[in-house]
Amino acid sequence: MDVRVAIDGPAGTGKSSVARGLARMLGARFLDTGAMYRIDTLAVLRAGIDPSDAAAVADLDPDISVGFDPDDIRAYLGEEDVSTEIRGDAVTAAVSAVSAVPEVRARLVRRQRELAAGAGSIVVEGRDIGSVVLPDAEVKIFLTASAEVRAQRRNDQNIAAGLGDDYQRVLADVVRRDTLDSTRAVSPLRPADDAVIVDTGDMTQDEVIAHLAGLVRERAGARQ
Ligand code: C5P
Repeated sequence: MDVRVAIDGPAGTGKSSVARGLARMLGARFLDTGAMYRIDTLAVLRAGIDPSDAAAVADLDPDISVGFDPDDIRAYLGEEDVSTEIRGDAVTAAVSAVSAVPEVRARLVRRQRELAAGAGSIVVEGRDIGSVVLPDAEVKIFLTASAEVRAQRRNDQNIAAGLGDDYQRVLADVVRRDTLDSTRAVSPLRPADDAVIVDTGDMTQDEVIAHLAGLVRERAGARQ
């Protein structure tokens, strides 16, 4: 039986690595919807559009594509591989504003549904997958962890990547993005009513993946 797994939650919960690991374990496809918002944001910045100019952001309709395989998560703007650039500070700072534009969401949600339809088993990761994109997904998971834990993880990643050590700045950014994402009018970040909430604060990544794989087996099995 094909299983669609929706994984939502704020930044820094380990969501991306966990979602990819779970897709690998299940032999499923993988879709990172955040990458799609990031590519749109990069196109906005490159076009010289102010990310807070919602009308101009809505009018731009860039050619976005993303890998569909947990071992190939390359991101493209047109023919160009922008996988690295979409993770940079400029895109990260502007993506919340771009993703709050209703036309952008409508366009990308439509694409995400098309990609997930007929894909067989798939793990889709984002902010609104269980609540909006795939409300009938067989398994819905919402990952959480305190802002402090998430900022600590992100700061550790920055140190490891040679990007410096500034916990307070990272914490402020985590809190700022949480507020923007959870208070926007369209698709605010919140767990779907039927999502299983998993706090990853005291768990390693492998523990989270094993736990989620257990949930998928339990839930998918119960529907057969
Ligand atoms: O997951 P990631 O941090 O790459 O997502 C980047 C941004 O894209 C988020 O901060 C959020 O503003 C937006 N996003 C969204 N809906 C999704 C996925 C991401 O609004 N389904």
